[in-house]
Amino acid sequence: MASQGPVNPSHATFDLFVQAQTCKDVKHHFTQLCRQLEIDPEDFGSFYAKLKERLNYWKAKALWTKLDKRASHEDYQQGKVCTKNKCLVLGAGPCGLRVAIELSLLGAQVVLLEKRETFSRNNVLHLWPYTIYDLRELGAKKFYGKFCSGSLDHISIRQLQLILLKVALLLGVEVHTGVEFQGLIEPSGENGWMAKLQPRSHPAAAFQFDVFISAGGGRFVPDGFKHKELRGKLAIGITANFINRHTAAETQVEEISGVARIYNQKFFQELLNETGIDLENIVYYKDDTHYFVMTAKKKSLLKKGVIKQDHNDAEQLLAPANVDYEALCNYACDAADFSTGGRLPDLQFAQNHAGQRDVAMFDFTCMHRAENASLVKERRGKKLLIGLVGDCLVEPFWPLGTGIARGFFAAFDAAWMVRSWGNGVPHLKVLAERESLYQLLSQTTPENTSKKYAAYSIDPRTRYQRVNLSSIQTHQVQHLYDVEKTH
Ligand code: FAD
Repeated sequence: MASQGPVNPSHATFDLFVQAQTCKDVKHHFTQLCRQLEIDPEDFGSFYAKLKERLNYWKAKALWTKLDKRASHEDYQQGKVCTKNKCLVLGAGPCGLRVAIELSLLGAQVVLLEKRETFSRNNVLHLWPYTIYDLRELGAKKFYGKFCSGSLDHISIRQLQLILLKVALLLGVEVHTGVEFQGLIEPSGENGWMAKLQPRSHPAAAFQFDVFISAGGGRFVPDGFKHKELRGKLAIGITANFINRHTAAETQVEEISGVARIYNQKFFQELLNETGIDLENIVYYKDDTHYFVMTAKKKSLLKKGVIKQDHNDAEQLLAPANVDYEALCNYACDAADFSTGGRLPDLQFAQNHAGQRDVAMFDFTCMHRAENASLVKERRGKKLLIGLVGDCLVEPFWPLGTGIARGFFAAFDAAWMVRSWGNGVPHLKVLAERESLYQLLSQTTPENTSKKYAAYSIDPRTRYQRVNLSSIQTHQVQHLYDVEKTH
């Protein structure tokens, strides 16, 4: 019997869109779908409604059911709260995409800019139970069937980006890749706030907005914000990705969801005795790749020739010229081999974005966090609300896997802030509420946040256990309101 593939071309395109495995393919099939259905993707206000109406396909309907459920939440007031707001989101990392989705559900026009053209990060993110629930409710399993099946609680960064990109596009977010944000342009003449972009002539350069959310990743500090440095003891992280051929032998190797030295002295001692590798901790996740993240001791890196010369300064120590790439590959490979009992046959590195073996060494000695999460700038009577989310708000320590959990919390908090903005709450109150929430973020753990995942929304009271939205008062955030002095 012939297979029952879709006969309607838009159904076939929808299937290709859902299954697409690169950023480029997602965008290509999406454009094709819009063309076939004769819907203008820039018609953000009615885009999703038209898509649902015109794509009468059973596979799509299952997804609409999920998205409709989310969209019908009372927080969004039927997508009418922010219809007058125009939001620019910087960065198509998981947090930028996640906040863009929320802003579009609030009814805002959302334009998202990403400087890269590809999603290439193999590294794997740990997911707290609430993030798994959240992503399932956005239809993650429809886009990526393997999503957190069984007891899996992790996903590769690129797969997560792909899922969120697809959801964002379906909800009417305008996503531009290959365009770099270079700064804000203050209002002049009739124009409101705009962005300086590279390439300069990019159509998004004409976009005027009243909300700017930066999700530009670690160390990206937009103008007007300050970062605090939290200096701990020297911590050198190594990540490595090996090809997963999904053989029966590979399937049987158990993951290591976090072996810290204090919990398993014997394991680390044996590793040191047998290989000369000295680690503080190691995590192994099986995903598209076999992914390892470990924190290594400097002495053993020097001894094994991974680091050539000793320096007190971590930056100098880990400068590319001071690292022997071959030795680093061997170090990571031996650690992976030992910690999996030699049961991963034929450990071969996966490739990174540059086509090289995907192994990298990072400095976690000095972690950054923004001093504040929000700011309002006013020029020529035009106000701009600015918020930070994700790594550019608080840099996570990867082996603890807090990046996405706290990143999504901040994305929801930022959306709540924009909701207040759209509702006409006075700007100092908006800032005071946002900063009150920001104080809670770094203390969040899976244990001290609400377990009622189904009730989670952008409303902070559904997530944090004890919320006081006025723990910081308006007079304490005066300095976050930057208005030009008139003479
Ligand atoms: P990111 O995911 O960093 O996304 C920021 C996005 O903004 C990027 O796509 C970037 O291209 C874009 N961008 C930046 N500046 C501009 C600009 N001027 N104009 C336009 N676009 C811009 N976490 C772990 O838990 N484990 C890991 O192993 C791990 N490995 C990582 C490896 C790398 C190379 C990086 C960068 C991050 C890694 N992380 C890891 C951190 C993890 O990716 C983040 O915690 C998570 O992705 C959430 O971050 P985010 O969305 O805030 O920022």
